[in-house]
Amino acid sequence: MEEMKQLISETEETLIPYFKNIEDVAYENQEKVLNAFHAVKATENDLQGTTGYGYDDIGRDHLEAIYAHTFKAEDAIVRPQIISGTHAITIALQSVLKYGDELLYITGDPYDTLLEVIGINGNGIESLKEHGVAYSKVDLKQDDIDIDAVLNNIKPQTKVIAIQRSKGYDQRPSIDLAKIERAINQIKAKHPEVIVFVDNCYGEFVEKREPIECGADLIAGSLIKNPGGGLAKIGGYIAGKKTLVERCGYRLTAPGIGKEAGASLNSLQEMYQGFFLAPHVVSQSLKGALFTSLLLEKMDMRTTPRYDVTRTDLIQTVSFDTKEQMILFCQSIQQASPINAHFSPEPAYMPGYEDDVIMAAGTFVQGSSIELSADGPIRPPYEVYVQGGLTYEHVKLAVSRAAQKLRTQQLV
Ligand SMILES: *Cc1c(COP(=O)(O)O)cnc(C)c1O
Repeated sequence: MEEMKQLISETEETLIPYFKNIEDVAYENQEKVLNAFHAVKATENDLQGTTGYGYDDIGRDHLEAIYAHTFKAEDAIVRPQIISGTHAITIALQSVLKYGDELLYITGDPYDTLLEVIGINGNGIESLKEHGVAYSKVDLKQDDIDIDAVLNNIKPQTKVIAIQRSKGYDQRPSIDLAKIERAINQIKAKHPEVIVFVDNCYGEFVEKREPIECGADLIAGSLIKNPGGGLAKIGGYIAGKKTLVERCGYRLTAPGIGKEAGASLNSLQEMYQGFFLAPHVVSQSLKGALFTSLLLEKMDMRTTPRYDVTRTDLIQTVSFDTKEQMILFCQSIQQASPINAHFSPEPAYMPGYEDDVIMAAGTFVQGSSIELSADGPIRPPYEVYVQGGLTYEHVKLAVSRAAQKLRTQQLV
């Protein structure tokens, strides 16, 4: 107990300058969001929402304008009818890719759920592949986009280049905006007509800029991750060039209707308030990730990224030596959740995964990963992905208890 207290206090001491940096980013992003609220003159009425067709849903339109303003995009779609990040990305890709076109991913394999969307895995039904869209990828080289290989792989059919900012649940590093900007500049210099799409999931408000400012044409993400600020109960967004966002609107609803319809029901108030809180909530998650990284490193576990490297997303990986350590860690995180803390997660089969997966998440919003959660497949190197946390204090509590338990049971 005393030893753990000592470790925690040393950890927080070391993190002071890094926390200061996170606070600076949150401050700038808070100002950006506030300015966006002012630019569209958000009113109390905007929080109300509509029913039925949702014509003249001024609150919805203003919220979309706030997203566009904040992300420096020409236009945005922000809807409860977009059910997840995967759905938002799917709409974006299906809107711009047509028969005969090629999609080129330049950050290696895409996120798991997108494999079926593209048609790499699964039964192919309604995949891009079934609709005649070809797919190809370029792997990262030395933890960066392999720009020479990308330029060599662009064909006349290459319509969209996709960049995944966050590593998601992969072992590669996340790609920060400086790297994304460098790659886009080099691509656009030679191929100005290629559309650059960025999967922005887990990235919003981690840096002072967003991908559109780095040259991306279209971005998408989930409201039960960063931009929902922990309050949004559902939703996804797409932002970017007006002509492309218009297509996405037609794809989401129907040609001719597009963004004009789609009732927001009761979702607006929490989407507005969540977006307002998002820069701060993201800073809390980030502080929690740094704490997790350094405390567990001090206890001889392997953590990536380390506490002192530049981050562009919320994901913290912890590698354990044994299955027992990994399971105990995830169970301890669940025990420190506000909801379902008395249930214990067990490794189990999950569609889309080869190995059993353990998932700890006692969240207010189902599957929300801006709330603290920990999960991973049970196979060497026994990696657990820890992400989110609505408050730094909660992450500190949960991770400290998990660390203490590993010590008490002599697993580390
Ligand atoms: C979470 C995530 C997605 C998919 O989002 P869901 O809301 O889970 O469908 C896509 N890409 C990345 C990088 C993600 O982290």
